[in-house]
Amino acid sequence: MTMTLLPIIEMLAQGEVAESTTHVKVYEKSYKNYENVHLLMVKVGNEKYILATGTGLLYDELVGDQIVDRGKKCPLTHENRLVLNRYFDYTKPRAFGTKTATIGLGDRLGLASPGHIETVRKSKMKPILAQQSIRELNLTNRTMEDILDAAAFAVFQTGYEGGYGADGDHIKEESDIKDALSLGVSMITLDCSDQIDKTIEEATAEKIEVEYEELPKRTRDYYQERYLNKTFQVNGLTLTFDRLSLMRNVLLYDEAIVFTTHVFKEYINKEERAIDFEISIDETETVTSPTAHFFVANELIDRGVQVNSLAPRFCGEFQKGIDYIGDIEQFEHELREHALISEHFGYKLSIHSGSDKFKVFPIIGKYTKGVLHIKTAGTNWLEAVRVIAKTNPPLYRDMHTFALENFEKALKYYHVTPDLASIKPLDKVTDSELPDYMNNDAARQLFHVTYGLILTDKNDQDQFTFKDQFYKTLYDHEEEYTAALMKHIGRHIDKLGLR
Ligand SMILES: [Zn+2]
Repeated sequence: MTMTLLPIIEMLAQGEVAESTTHVKVYEKSYKNYENVHLLMVKVGNEKYILATGTGLLYDELVGDQIVDRGKKCPLTHENRLVLNRYFDYTKPRAFGTKTATIGLGDRLGLASPGHIETVRKSKMKPILAQQSIRELNLTNRTMEDILDAAAFAVFQTGYEGGYGADGDHIKEESDIKDALSLGVSMITLDCSDQIDKTIEEATAEKIEVEYEELPKRTRDYYQERYLNKTFQVNGLTLTFDRLSLMRNVLLYDEAIVFTTHVFKEYINKEERAIDFEISIDETETVTSPTAHFFVANELIDRGVQVNSLAPRFCGEFQKGIDYIGDIEQFEHELREHALISEHFGYKLSIHSGSDKFKVFPIIGKYTKGVLHIKTAGTNWLEAVRVIAKTNPPLYRDMHTFALENFEKALKYYHVTPDLASIKPLDKVTDSELPDYMNNDAARQLFHVTYGLILTDKNDQDQFTFKDQFYKTLYDHEEEYTAALMKHIGRHIDKLGLR
C-alpha cells in the first residue's frame, strides 16, 4: 500500500494541505484504488477531505481544489458523496431482508457512524447507520440528505464494505415516504399511529359494540367471516377471536391495515431496488397483544404486503435512554409469543426505543433467535455528551445548566418521567466526576430529550450557544467517541447474543 499511497503522501508534504495546519490525520482504512485513481480520506484541522490523485473519470467527477499536478483535495459534500456512490457500491445503503439481524444506529450529530461501524464490524449484526425520524430532523435542523451523506462518508472513511442500511424512520405522510425513497433510503418504517384510534384502548364493551356497528357492513362481514370464533394454530400458539376481541382489533387496526397496504402497493412495491419495509404500531398507548399482532400481520400478508419487520408495542415501558421498566416475567411471556408470530410469518421482530434495555436483551435475543431489528438513537448522543463531560468540563457544565432550565420545553416531544431531584447539583460535583452523570437515569433522560434545544440554541449575536464548541470538541476527540460507542453499543450486542 505504501507504494500506491506515495502520490498522496507527496500531496500532503507539498501541497497546501500541509501548509494550512500543523495537524493532519490520515484515515488509512479509507484508501481506495479505482483503475488509475487513488483516494484517501484525511482530516486537516477540523475538516475532513478526500485526497484524490491519478487520471480517469472518477478523478474528473470529484469536485475539489487542485493542490499538485493530478492531485486534489475534495470536501465531503453531497455532490462528492454521489460520486463515491457511483463508483463504490458499498457506499450505497442496501436492504437486508428478513433473516439478517440489524441494528438501527441513529446519529443525530453526523459523527457517530465511524464508531458504530467499528462496533458492528465483527458482529453478527448489520448497521442501519442512517436512521432519522422527521421529528429528529426538525429538532436538529438537518435534512435527510445530510444524514445520508454522513453515513456514506463514514463507510468510506472506515473502509467498511460489509453493507449498511438507511432508514426513513417513523414516517407517517405519503409525501415523506416518496421523498425518502427518492433520496435512496433502503428502509422505510411506516408509523401507523395516526390510523390507530386511541380511544378504543379505554373503551367499554358497549362503546366498542356501538362503534363496530357503525362500520360498513362489508367490512364487518369480511372480518367476521375470517376470524369470528375461529382458532388459529400459529407456530405452537393457539389464538382465538371471540366477538369482543375481534371488534376491538378491527376498530383499532383496520384503518392502519388499509393504509399500510396502500403504501406498500403505491410506493414500496414500485421501487426497482429492494426495500426493507417495517410496520410500526408501537407509537400508541395501546399495548399490542399477541392476538392483535397476529391479526395485523395476517391481514397484511394476505393482502400481499411484504413485511420485513414489525414493531409491536410491548408491555411495560421502553423509555428513552434507560433500562426496561416493568414486569420482566410478563415481558418474557409476551415477547416469546410475539417472536413465534414473527417467525411464523417470516419477518423480523423489531424493538423500538431499544437502547439501554439491558435487563431484557437476553430474553429478546433468545426468543427471536437473533432474527430481529433493534433501534437505538439517543443513546449515541448521550455517549457524545459523556465525551464532552470528560474532555471539556466547562462546556458540559453550561449544557447541563441549560438542559435543566429547558427541560419542560423538551417534554413537548418526548415521554419521559425522570426524577430530576436525583441528579446531583452541579456545584457539588468535581470535573473528574462529571462523566458519571451519564450513569444516572434522570440525567440521561434530561439530556436525551433536550438535544434539539442544546444543538440549535443561539445567543443574541445569532451564534450557536453550544453547537460549534460541541462539534469541535468531538472532532478533537474522535477516538474517545469511537471507544465510548464501541463499549456502550457493544454491550447491547453482547447482551443480545449477537457478537
Ligand atoms: Zn417506534
